[in-house]
Amino acid sequence: MAGEVVRVIYPHTGKAMRVGITGPPGVGKSSLISTLVRTCREDCLSVGVISVDPSSPFTQGALLGDRIRLAEHFLDREVFIRSMGTRGHIGGVAEATLQASLVLDAAGKQVVFVETVGVGQSEIEIASITDTVVLALMPGSGDSVQALKAGIMEIPDVIVVNKKDHPESEKMVDEIRMILHLTMKRREWEPPVIATSATTGEGVRELWDQIRAHRAFLLSTGAVEERRARQMEKEVFTLAAHQMQERLLRRARSDPSLVAIMARVSSRETDPLSAVQAVLREVFALPDD
Ligand code: GDP
Repeated sequence: MAGEVVRVIYPHTGKAMRVGITGPPGVGKSSLISTLVRTCREDCLSVGVISVDPSSPFTQGALLGDRIRLAEHFLDREVFIRSMGTRGHIGGVAEATLQASLVLDAAGKQVVFVETVGVGQSEIEIASITDTVVLALMPGSGDSVQALKAGIMEIPDVIVVNKKDHPESEKMVDEIRMILHLTMKRREWEPPVIATSATTGEGVRELWDQIRAHRAFLLSTGAVEERRARQMEKEVFTLAAHQMQERLLRRARSDPSLVAIMARVSSRETDPLSAVQAVLREVFALPDD
C-alpha cells in the first residue's frame, strides 16, 4: 500500500527544501524546530516536520514533551507534524521516514524538517534523505565535540550550539570553530557555527539564514542533483539490504534447506563460514564471494 503511494507521488517530488536536525537528546532540537517553524511561517513557507523517535531510550513522557513543544503549530493547516517510532523491524524507520518525506514533498510542503536523536549513525542516515544537515549541540556536549575532533563524526553542513544563555556557550562555539579550522581540508562550503537560544528565539533567524545559504550554495554549484543521486543510490541499496536481512531471518527457521545447513553446522560437518556461503547460494542464488 505504502509502496503504491510512493510510486504514484514520486514524480511529483524534489521541490521541498529538506533539512535534517540531529544531535544528542536534551540539546533543544524540538524547541529549535518549533522556533524554526515559526520563522518559516513568518516567511509564509509551508512546513512539514518528521520527528524520528528512537526505539528504546525514551519514555512516553519525553515523547509527549516533544509534541508539546511543537503544540503551538498544531492548528496551523500549513504545518504538518509526524512522529515516527520504530516499526518493529530492521530498516522500518528508515523506510517510513523516506515515505513520509516524499509524501510531504509531493504535498507541496516547501520546507521539510527531519529530526533524529543521536550521535553517530543518525547523521549519516539523515544525510541520505536531506539536503542540509544541522548538528545541534549545547554546552556540555563534550562527547560530540570529541567525535568531531577525532573525525568519527562526519562534518555537518551547519552546527548550532543551543542554550546560548549557558555561561559556557561562547567557549564551545570557539572550540568548534577551532576544530573545523584544524580539520578543514579545503572545503567549498565552510560549516557555520551559530549560537541560539531556542526558548527566547535568539539566533534562530540567523540559523535559518545559514540553512538557506547552504541551500543556495548547493543550487549554485549544481551539487544538489549530484548529491541527491548519490543519496538515492545509498538509500535504495540500504533498504534493499534491510529487506534481504528481514527475509533471510524469516526463512531461517521455516526453510528446510536452511534448517539442514544449520544442522550440519551443529554436527560440525560444515563450518560456519561455509554455511554462510551455502545460505547465500540457497536463498539469493548468489555465487560465492
Ligand atoms: P531535544 O531532546 O533535543 O529535542 O530537546 P528539547 O527541545 O526537548 O529541550 C530539552 C530541554 O531544554 C527542555 O527543557 C527545553 O525547554 C530546554 N531548552 C531548549 N532550548 C533551550 C535554551 O535555549 N536555553 C535553555 N536554558 N533551555 C533550553
